Formats: sequence, C-alpha cells, structure tokens
Amino acid sequence: MNTSFTYDGLPGHIVFGPGAARRDLLSVIDTFHAHRVLVIASDNEIAAAMTLCTPFSDRVHGTFTAVRPHVPVDVAEAARAAAGGADLVLSYGGGSTTGTAKAVALTTGLPVVCIPTTYAGSEITPVWGMTEGGRKTTGVDARVLPKAVVYDPELTSTLPLDLSVASGLNAVAHCVEAFWAPRRNPISSAIAEDGIRHLAIGLPALAAEPTDIAARTPLLLGAYLAGTAFAAAGSGLHHKICHALGGAFDLPHAQTHAIVLPHVLAFNAPSAPIATERIGRALDHPDPVAALSAMGQDLGIPAGLRDVGMPEDGIDVVLDDILAIVPADNPTPVSPDTLRELLRAAWAGETPRA
Ligand code: NAD
Repeated sequence: MNTSFTYDGLPGHIVFGPGAARRDLLSVIDTFHAHRVLVIASDNEIAAAMTLCTPFSDRVHGTFTAVRPHVPVDVAEAARAAAGGADLVLSYGGGSTTGTAKAVALTTGLPVVCIPTTYAGSEITPVWGMTEGGRKTTGVDARVLPKAVVYDPELTSTLPLDLSVASGLNAVAHCVEAFWAPRRNPISSAIAEDGIRHLAIGLPALAAEPTDIAARTPLLLGAYLAGTAFAAAGSGLHHKICHALGGAFDLPHAQTHAIVLPHVLAFNAPSAPIATERIGRALDHPDPVAALSAMGQDLGIPAGLRDVGMPEDGIDVVLDDILAIVPADNPTPVSPDTLRELLRAAWAGETPRA
C-alpha cells in the first residue's frame, strides 16, 4: 500500500439524480447570484437546454450553438464574444460543448455550470483543449473547472447506443488506467474501483435497454467517478498508446480504447497484482483481463486493431512515439520488444496475455 502521497481534491458542487436538472438548476444558478446567463449547447441540444432554463428565462442573456468537435479557436473566440456582458456560462451537452464553455472561462474567468449529457467526463477536470490548423493544444487551468455540475441521467437517455457505448468504454479506460497513471494515489484508486463497478453494471444494462434510466444512472455516476479518478491520476501507458494510434491512423476512438485496454491490463497485471485484484473485484470476475475482453465483445467491439483499419506495418510507425511518452514508472517496464508484442497482439485480435 502507498502510505505517502499527495492528492489535490478539486472544488466543485455536484448535484446528481434523475430529474435533478428540472428540479435543482434554478437553485444552482441562484447560488452564483447569476442574472445574465450565456447558454452554450449545440444545435441538437439547445431546445432541451432552453426548456430547463424556463424557470429563469428572464435571466438568459444569450445563447451560443456553434459548437464543434475539439473546439476550433475561431469557435472559442465567437463563444467569448457571445459571453460579453454575461455573468455565468451554462453548458449543456457533451465534451465538445463543455470544452467550448471552458474556452470562454479560460479568458473571461466566468463561472461555468455544466450539465453533461454524455459520459466524457470533461466537466470534472481543469483540462482545456483547442484546435487550430488541425493541431490540438491542451492545458490545465483552475479557471476552466466548472464550479457546479448537474448530473441528470434522464438527459442522457437520448444519447444513441453507439455513442453511449463509446463514451462508457472510454470511462472504463480512465478508471483502469488510474491504478498506474503517474499521479495515482489511494484516493484516486478507490474512486476508480468504484467507477469500474458502476460502469460494469451500467454498460450491459444499457445495451439490453438503451433508454432505461436504471442503466443510465449507474453509467452516469461511473462517468463522474471515472473523470474524477482520471483528473487526479493522469494518463499512462494505455492512453499514450491510444493517443498515438488515433493520431497516426485516424482510428475510431472508443473501439481503439476497448481493444487495447485488456492488452495493457494483461501487460501490467503481473507487476500490479493489487490493482489487478481490485479491478477484478470491481468487475466481479476472477479474471479481469478476460472480463474486459468479453465486455468489449458483448458491446460489439471488434477483436483487433486490424478490424478497425490499422495496417500491420503501422506498429513500427508508432513504436518510437509511444516509447517517448510512456511514464517511466509503468508497473511493467516497457521496452521496444515488449511494446511491439503488445501492439501486435492487439492488432491481430489475439487473447490478451502477460
Ligand atoms: P461530443 O460532445 O462531440 O458529442 C457527440 C455527439 O453527441 C454530438 O453530436 C452531440 O450533439 C451528441 N449528443 C450529446 N449529448 C446527447 C444526448 N444526450 N442525446 C443525443 N445526442 C447527444 O462528444 P463527447 O464524447 O461527449 O466529447 C468529446 C470531446 O470531449 C473531445 O473533444 C474530447 O477531447 C473532449 N474531452 C475533454 C476532456 C477534458 O478533460 N478536457 C475529457 C474528456 C473528453
């Protein structure tokens, strides 16, 4: 057990529950004495957002709907212009919308109240990201961390099954990786373990009945726990591999995560027995590697990276890039040969093994 550690608990008011947005949004807005609210939501979500604003419609200062994936800088600038004269930003939507609100907060210092409608987890981190000319820049700034988050599972029930599975599996990866990421500590590990437990309940239930609030509720709580664990612990071998693969071959994000994760767990398991045991406990399975593989298959994830478009000779294309960014304290030391073998097995869709 790690008996010496540091942990930065992030501030933020969390309101959680089915119907919470309808019930509690006004009192959350009142907490900030806000009278000129800028509502940010994409074209798809603005109607639902405005319905929630009905109890304080006289305090809506304006809306911004030109949300785009990965927050292009011109979108950030337009959102900042729309925020002129506002005293609070209300964000309603997925990670792209949250990211737009964060871009506004970064330069204006305005408080953000966030209502997430996917399982991305951005609403609980102080990380911002913007793109310009195809290049993404990220940073960490306390100003962008939403001051309050309203989690309402009812609002996620319209999220299509494939997007729900994608962001749910991403959240599983955040939790598993939190056990060996660079800033891991007993608090983030406890949060991650409980996150996996909730996601492992929610994901299969969701696949069986996509609009069932009884499935959406543990999934959204798991997403919150995953974002919290990830914000505290950071990213490790798994995220470095997925980042490099996604960038080099434009692979689908969620599938890549779901295919690679059991291989990374199998790779680290012999050197991280306590983490592996805890992940197994959370998945309620004696073999967490097999359980993660089965979860992906049951949710329709292909077996190997070759099935999602990665060329076999791509392994050597990304090898050095990954080796350059892998945390030095990954539980199992990473060498060119062991990493190549991990990638080859993930590419071929073989059973993950240590
Ligand atoms: P997204 O926000 O782009 O949304 C995906 C699609 O789902 C959009 O078309 C959106 O309109 C739709 N949608 C959202 N909620 C819906 C709902 N309830 N019903 C129906 N449709 C809905 O995707 P995302 O996966 O939520 O976010 C991805 C982005 O978030 C990426 O840019 C990623 O880098 C970022 N992110 C940032 C952090 C961070 O800490 N900064 C963390 C995680 C993700």
